[in-house]
Amino acid sequence: MNSNRKCYAVKNKNENIRAESRSGRVFTAISDWVLDNGGVVYGCVMSDAYTAEHIRAVTKIDRNRMRGSKYIPSHINNCYSLCAEDLSTGRQVLFSGTPCQIDALKNFLSVKKVDTTNLLTMDLICHSVASPKLWRKYVDHLSQGKRIDCVDFRDKKNFGWVAHKETIVVEGVEISSNGFSDIYYSDLAYPLHCFKCYYKNCNRVSDITIGDYWGIDKLDPEFFDNKGISLVMLNSEKGEDAFSACSKELEIREHYLIDSLQPPLVHNYVIPKNRTRFYKSLNRDNFDILLKKFIKRPELIYTKIISIALKIVKR
Ligand SMILES: Cc1cc2nc3c(=O)[nH]c(=O)nc-3n(C[C@H](O)[C@H](O)[C@H](O)COP(=O)(O)OP(=O)(O)OC[C@H]3O[C@@H](n4cnc5c(N)ncnc54)[C@H](O)[C@@H]3O)c2cc1C
Ligand code: SF4
Repeated sequence: MNSNRKCYAVKNKNENIRAESRSGRVFTAISDWVLDNGGVVYGCVMSDAYTAEHIRAVTKIDRNRMRGSKYIPSHINNCYSLCAEDLSTGRQVLFSGTPCQIDALKNFLSVKKVDTTNLLTMDLICHSVASPKLWRKYVDHLSQGKRIDCVDFRDKKNFGWVAHKETIVVEGVEISSNGFSDIYYSDLAYPLHCFKCYYKNCNRVSDITIGDYWGIDKLDPEFFDNKGISLVMLNSEKGEDAFSACSKELEIREHYLIDSLQPPLVHNYVIPKNRTRFYKSLNRDNFDILLKKFIKRPELIYTKIISIALKIVKR
């Protein structure tokens, strides 16, 4: 890698707005610019059935549903075809997703011979996606058949940006735990292709790459605030132009990429030895049993956090 390659630490100047996004709200800033210019935005939302789905948005209300990371695979639905239609009519399009989704989109548009002049792509630094079955078991386990009001895969508002805890609101009661994230980071629940990912490196497929700026607390302690800092890589002239067009509302610090690397920018993860056993258990056991079998001392972390949340709500 070119050791002079730059990247950017970015946060939105408005802290209240930043709270709604996973990291520094770069996606919102760039998608605002596209929507304000009459463009279209594609991205991932959580459906009413708690699956991750890609949708097309022409309003900020729909776009806002794309905010926040959903750590499961997103169904692309008919978004590639819709995107081709939008581009064919001359509309500006921002398409956001995992690197493999962006690469697939570009292949699709190339086969269909679509003019991509007005296409801006944004990919995520991608750790991997977890089994949707695991997510379903987790949600069912916490809700116990009751109504779910909302889901936050990574609750930044209550626990800060660095922590990784989910919060699910079940009939008005906030239940927070790190049950799902503990399994996510154990690497047990990823599909096999995520261990052979072509995109875990610095050769990016999109115009702009965004992620969490891990390590910024040490690299630039003054800038760090545990409210969400994005790492931004600008990979093309189009990406640079879009970023500079919406930079007024952002606080930006320039760094060397070589000082800002994290594992998904460098290498694939190793398949855990007990992954096959985990998947057998996933087909058979409920979430509690999975957690007890595969994560060290899960009950302590898990029940304590739930009981604290319940106590707060009762008060
Ligand atoms: C599965 C997954 C793994 C990730 N792994 C890492 C990592 O290892 N290191 C790192 O630094 N950052 C990772 N990220 C990215 C990071 O969590 C933030 O999504 C990113 O920094 C954007 O922050 P934001 O505040 O600008 O965007 P937000 O306003 O939070 O917007 C979220 C953006 O992510 C997209 N998105 C959300 N979920 C999905 C999904 N399931 N599939 C496709 N697109 C989705 C939305 O379309 C939107 O563009 C990951 C994200 C996901 C979804
Ligand atoms: S890890 Fe790679 S293959 Fe898996 S979802 Fe992310 S980009 Fe796609």
